[in-house]
Amino acid sequence: PTTTQNPQRVLLKLSGEVFGGGEVGLDPDVVRGMARQIAAAARSGVQIAIVIGGGNFFRGAELQQKGMDRVRADYMGMLGIVMNCLALQDFLEKEGVDTRVQTAITMGQVAEPYIPRRAIRHMEKGRVVIFGAGMGMPFFSTDTVAVQRALENKCDVVMVAKSGVDGVYTADPKTDPTATKIDVLHYDEAVEKGLRVMDQTAFALCGENKLPMVVFGMEGEGNITRALQGEKIGTLVTV
Ligand code: UDP
Repeated sequence: PTTTQNPQRVLLKLSGEVFGGGEVGLDPDVVRGMARQIAAAARSGVQIAIVIGGGNFFRGAELQQKGMDRVRADYMGMLGIVMNCLALQDFLEKEGVDTRVQTAITMGQVAEPYIPRRAIRHMEKGRVVIFGAGMGMPFFSTDTVAVQRALENKCDVVMVAKSGVDGVYTADPKTDPTATKIDVLHYDEAVEKGLRVMDQTAFALCGENKLPMVVFGMEGEGNITRALQGEKIGTLVTV
């Protein structure tokens, strides 16, 4: 598909940073706000899968710079992600939405293991599925996980919620006043122009598999709901 109108099943990528409200740890008010918006979309019948980052707790590369072993630091990053997943699950359930967390690192007391066919069944039954612990492998980013999970679980589109920016721009809007927002961007164009939308592995995986992606700003009122419902918002990246 090259359009995102009336998506049946959507993968939403939320960065971990947002969960912390700009600080280390969790800001429950922020999580509650996101849960309300996701719940509204779920009630309207969209099937939803979610991948969350962990930047509000640990980033492997940063801990490595401070002297830690990268692999161990990445595992800490993945465990941080799981805390974000549990927080979002909690607030979604308070909104009356059924949810399942599935983690790439098994921890049976806390969440289901990652089983794609089961995840699809959950979504068909109206449950929101939250994929936690990244890919379960060091050296990957949650951007890449978002694309991989979307492909494997047959989502129609990846919706990337950004904080502080409302789409893809021709240049960095923070430093270049001539930068303008792009409505529709083609994968090859993005590569040619050197526009960094997601990390390169994630972006390549998305392009190669012709998976449409929408990059949107999560700050506007109801933006997450609107994106999940397929309203035209942010920048559409397509083949
Ligand atoms: N991580 C990993 N493998 C994965 C996903 C995440 O090792 O498949 C680790 C990595 O250390 C990363 C951290 O988890 O820095 C948090 O994820 P990320 O930085 O992507 O979160 P975000 O920037 O979206 O908040």
